Amino acid sequence: MLLPSLNPQCLPCLSFSHSISLPLPPSFFPNPSKSSHFPSFQINCIDAAQPFDYESHLKTRYIQSTSLKIAIVGFGNFGQFLSKTFLRHHHTLLAHSRTNYADLANQLGVFFYSDPNDLFEQHPDVVLLSTSILSTETLLRKLPFQRLRRNTLFVDVLSVKEFPRNLFLKYLPPDFDILCTHPMFGPESGKTSWTGLPFVYDKVRIGDEESRVKRCDKFLGIFEKEGCRMVEMSCMEHDKYAAGSQFVTHTMGRVLEKFGLESSPINTKGYETLLNLVENTKGDSFDLYYGLFMYNQNSLEQIERLDMAFESIKKDLFGRLHQVYRKQLFGDNGEVKRNTRLPQKLLGDASLIQTPLDNVRKDES
Ligand code: NAP
Repeated sequence: MLLPSLNPQCLPCLSFSHSISLPLPPSFFPNPSKSSHFPSFQINCIDAAQPFDYESHLKTRYIQSTSLKIAIVGFGNFGQFLSKTFLRHHHTLLAHSRTNYADLANQLGVFFYSDPNDLFEQHPDVVLLSTSILSTETLLRKLPFQRLRRNTLFVDVLSVKEFPRNLFLKYLPPDFDILCTHPMFGPESGKTSWTGLPFVYDKVRIGDEESRVKRCDKFLGIFEKEGCRMVEMSCMEHDKYAAGSQFVTHTMGRVLEKFGLESSPINTKGYETLLNLVENTKGDSFDLYYGLFMYNQNSLEQIERLDMAFESIKKDLFGRLHQVYRKQLFGDNGEVKRNTRLPQKLLGDASLIQTPLDNVRKDES
């Protein structure tokens, strides 16, 4: 459609306009060679939704029907990271934290409340707890639940699961719904995309009413739509698996960081993996790591297994070295008695750690 040129300033309600200039074909002009500049027609089109635009009405209505009012308690590293994606899904975001993040929240488009009373008086559909594991109980005891609607959905994203589950059951009013979750990625590993990243959840207590079921599904839908690998499992199972994977990963990342890995011009793929591991874990607070250790009862066993495995490998190496030195010092006569055995240790999978001297003898025989 050809329109006369519109002056956008005369139309304050229209927010966007595009114009496309189209050169006219040479055949349009009787003698094109006489003119080096062809005139052109300008087509103006307007992007802004019109009051009669049915499609845009439908879209607005759809967004309203699927959007949630989510209050984030604990607007630190992870809370901010999550809020950016929630906003992209057209949810209304409110936040409260110990630190005043008002300016930062404002920039992101999040309403910040320094006082939790004010936050809860906004009657959010979902309250999402993203505080440090260590501070959770103290904080929960102080939250003014009485200001919330009776059937609010409480969600947590703590990296341990049995601990917040038990706290929620202990401190939350019985009418509240409870969803315990663990997005198993962070601002580093989920920087570019959440596709394929695991999201663990346990519907600890969700009322039967359709509205409650839908609200929980809408919340989970954010992660589903982002392409997360949705894994429903009990908090207990989560902690068992997480101690063996997540806690060990964080521990190795921290050990290697202390060790001081440095990039070199001849990095192998394996070494790059180690550098990435350090990169992924070093941004996380020590509180988070300490929380993984303190509030997952399986972590102590895992750190002991790691320690034993490291000792075992050291013994394998030093045992051989020891044997070489002995031969150099005493010749073949200096052989140790065959029935002298070093004490044996038991690994977590019940396998025995072979003593290094045994290994050496077997290899040499
Ligand atoms: P964090 O160190 O575990 O927690 C920082 C948050 O806790 C901040 O919001 C901080 O508030 C708050 N906080 C700390 N001490 C507090 C206290 N005494 N009273 C009140 N609030 C306190 O770091 P994070 O990475 O942001 O993690 C937040 C939660 O998400 C943790 O439970 C963590 O396990 C979980 N999580 C983290 C990741 C990750 O990759 N980072 C991934 C999955 C799950 P202020 O900032 O206002 O001080």
